[in-house]
Amino acid sequence: MDQARKALYCLYRKLRNISIPIDLQFKLFDTLILPILTYGCEIWGYENTKQLEKLHLQFCRNILGVRTTTPNFMTYGELGRTPIDILCIKLRIVNFWNRLISNEKKLSCILYKIMFNLSIIDNVQFKWLNFIKSIFEKTGLNYLWNQQQPVHSVQLKFIVKQNLTDQYIQNWFNQIENSSRGEFYGIFKNEFNLEKYLLKLLPHERNMITKFRCNNIKLPIETGRWSNTPREERICHLCNVGLGTEFHFLFECTSADVQRLRCKFIPIYYTRYANMYKMKGLLSLCNVKVLKKLSYLYLNCKMFCNYILRLYYFRLVISVIM
Ligand SMILES: [Zn+2]
Repeated sequence: MDQARKALYCLYRKLRNISIPIDLQFKLFDTLILPILTYGCEIWGYENTKQLEKLHLQFCRNILGVRTTTPNFMTYGELGRTPIDILCIKLRIVNFWNRLISNEKKLSCILYKIMFNLSIIDNVQFKWLNFIKSIFEKTGLNYLWNQQQPVHSVQLKFIVKQNLTDQYIQNWFNQIENSSRGEFYGIFKNEFNLEKYLLKLLPHERNMITKFRCNNIKLPIETGRWSNTPREERICHLCNVGLGTEFHFLFECTSADVQRLRCKFIPIYYTRYANMYKMKGLLSLCNVKVLKKLSYLYLNCKMFCNYILRLYYFRLVISVIM
């Protein structure tokens, strides 16, 4: 774990000096860091792997430039990435099991057979065996476990990966649907894939777009959550009319500053008779020109929100002192 952390910080240092696309940065992570993190995971992979996932999430959030409190489903959703246990650990364990039982003359295979028989006949519990069994159960490949016969490794890995990924995506959709923080995200995010804007824009531009999409801008609807303010009381501080939601900022806010920005940065098609459908269209756009403009709009939105929040805290402190 420490070795992987050291390698990761080394990678951060290198990435800071060069600008390379996000997909290549993840390729570097998968090639340089993942093998260190998962070294020998065929043996210990059944244990708790939360620490490994933390490091993986830290890298993902660092690349996206979002807060550490950003929900996992948003972080993975923007990148179209699955957690490490699905990406690598479970696949390697299943592949290892397949190789282990393929050569009956090997000592490791004989020992495995003894272990398996002990678990069947004497009901001795082995965590490692139970974990492999659970992978087969989850992926609907029970018959492979019952047969205990080797199969084609490429096909096995493909089927297990496909089934685990499908289940993860299903679970990901459920998380968006059931989380109050996923309310806005669920409007425009309908596919689990790497967002195209991440590959087309400059780092500071894509960073602003990600922040807006992932509730990282301090709009009243988000800051009210921190102070447990009831939803209906999270009013926009710029116009003091209506809830301070993303939709309100983009299309409804009557503040002169926001209206000026809206005219300048949002295509008129979206602002005229605005509705949820148009907002979904605006946030799913791939047009580089419009995306660049939107990133400036979000930057201004961030500055407004930060200013108002500072003003609010300043007044709060003054009222306490007085
Ligand atoms: Zn407003």
